[in-house]
Amino acid sequence: ASTFLYCERDGVSCSQHNQTLTKTCPRTSSASPVPLPCHTHLGSAPSRPIEGCPPMAEEPSVKRTKTEDLGAGSEPDAATPAAAEEERPGGEVTVKIQSKALCCRICSEPLKPPIFKCAAGHVLCSQCPEKLREVGHVLRLGTFCALCCKSTSYSRCVELEQFIDAMKVPCSNQTYGCNEYVSYQQKEKHESSCPHAPCYCPEDDCAFKAPACCLLDHFVTAHGWSPTNLGYNKPLKILLARDRRFTLLVGEDMSLFLLINTLTSIGSALAVVCVRPHESEPSYSCNISAAHGVAGGKTDGRLVFQKDPHVSSSSLAGGVQMGNFFLLVPLEFAETSSGELTVHIRIDRVAS
Ligand SMILES: [Zn+2]
Ligand SMILES: [Zn+2]
Ligand SMILES: [Zn+2]
Ligand SMILES: [Zn+2]
Repeated sequence: ASTFLYCERDGVSCSQHNQTLTKTCPRTSSASPVPLPCHTHLGSAPSRPIEGCPPMAEEPSVKRTKTEDLGAGSEPDAATPAAAEEERPGGEVTVKIQSKALCCRICSEPLKPPIFKCAAGHVLCSQCPEKLREVGHVLRLGTFCALCCKSTSYSRCVELEQFIDAMKVPCSNQTYGCNEYVSYQQKEKHESSCPHAPCYCPEDDCAFKAPACCLLDHFVTAHGWSPTNLGYNKPLKILLARDRRFTLLVGEDMSLFLLINTLTSIGSALAVVCVRPHESEPSYSCNISAAHGVAGGKTDGRLVFQKDPHVSSSSLAGGVQMGNFFLLVPLEFAETSSGELTVHIRIDRVAS
């Protein structure tokens, strides 16, 4: 006992699947629903001709979605037999879609199953129907839709859930070299650990961002930094000019470490960060120390020492931030004549 609502050209559905949506047939421009069997109920595409709606083959100018071979980057003409081949079930098709079409109509959050719809087809996230139910209760409207502005009922929008399930989207770091296409629902998770995510140049007034591997070149060519090679598990002596904010250390595995020197009124605060987009393996520990007046066997010398059991990783997205671990080297530790600080630093790879 289904009444069939949609024209073949605009997707097929029936009253049992979608009770209240009506659409204009894009080919006849007729606003009245075109009677047609439902794919889901009949299991196959309708063979019955639609009244007033010529068969697809007779109208080659009809818009088709462009198919792209993602691997080779070629763009075959959608009208060629090769392209038609790729549009068969099991193939892939590239589409561009307005992101708001995949967002809740109420809260604008990205839709993830379970997805709901009101009786008029307004699509909502899993949270909003319940919120509207509560509001409706207070306003004595019962279950209502804020977009319809009237009482309604909510049901699962299985069609959109299936669509979103089948959808793959490019990683946002495509411009930084990530070629991954991930399922829409996994996008956020992938990007939170995508190795291609950019890191940022910490110099004032420099907006450069790039994957960590490209930063080294930028630091050297754009800012004239001279990187220091660092061997793990052994101390390295660094002469630090008082006002030099950044010292770049390059590990044996090409990991970038930044020794950050922040001048304060009572001394220099020194901290080390690993410049990479996310916390990831391997992890590192770090010792920094500085001594004053211990040369020549003096007994009144002072030593400051800091051990950071886990060097934090940072993309430097918000500039340099001083974490919990920093070493405060008092002002008088600096060489009187040159103003230089002598610092010993040791970075160890921590076995995972
Ligand atoms: Zn919502
Ligand atoms: Zn509604
Ligand atoms: Zn990625
Ligand atoms: Zn820069």
